[in-house]
Amino acid sequence: MKKKAVFIDRDGTINIDVGYPSSYDVIDIYPYSFEAIKKIKDAGLLAVIITNQSGIGRGIIEEKNLHDIHAKLNEEFKRHGVSFDGIYYCPHYVFSKMEKFKKKCACRKPNPGMGKRAAEDLKIDTSLSYMIGDKVEDLLFGININAAPILVLTGYGQESKKKLKDMGIQPAFVANNLLEAAEWIIEQEKATPAS
Ligand SMILES: [Mg+2]
Ligand SMILES: [Zn+2]
Repeated sequence: MKKKAVFIDRDGTINIDVGYPSSYDVIDIYPYSFEAIKKIKDAGLLAVIITNQSGIGRGIIEEKNLHDIHAKLNEEFKRHGVSFDGIYYCPHYVFSKMEKFKKKCACRKPNPGMGKRAAEDLKIDTSLSYMIGDKVEDLLFGININAAPILVLTGYGQESKKKLKDMGIQPAFVANNLLEAAEWIIEQEKATPAS
């Protein structure tokens, strides 16, 4: 049977968005994020990070440093008794000076590429899943993979709320932060009879 997942944006959703962080030293995890991920996992859903990291294509951060950030991020969550089931990133940038990353790719959110890959790797039914993020592209990504799109008001959330309204896009839920989003998801899951 396929699993349900909560896809989660990184910067501005799990940690403060400082813009192209190039080392773990500048990653500031919101204090409630640990509890939020724990609730998601305890409810039997997978927690998967989906993050655009064009800083790589832009030459601001090296790919190995991003791997280091993600390893340390996962370690920090493990210290709180919880871990992510996957971390997917898009390194591409259309105007990159590096051939490897110069690409109009299918994985940069709002494109569904990372969601499709995660779904295949982790046997996820995206139509029974959720996407939490602070930007319009996060919500569009959720819609593109047929998952329930949830907006958080941290990061760029307030601006995004206005933009979404102008675009006529209605999030499945607007949460003050990741913990509130996780709690809402748990409520939805309780209301849904197990299939
Ligand atoms: Mg973000
Ligand atoms: Zn990409």
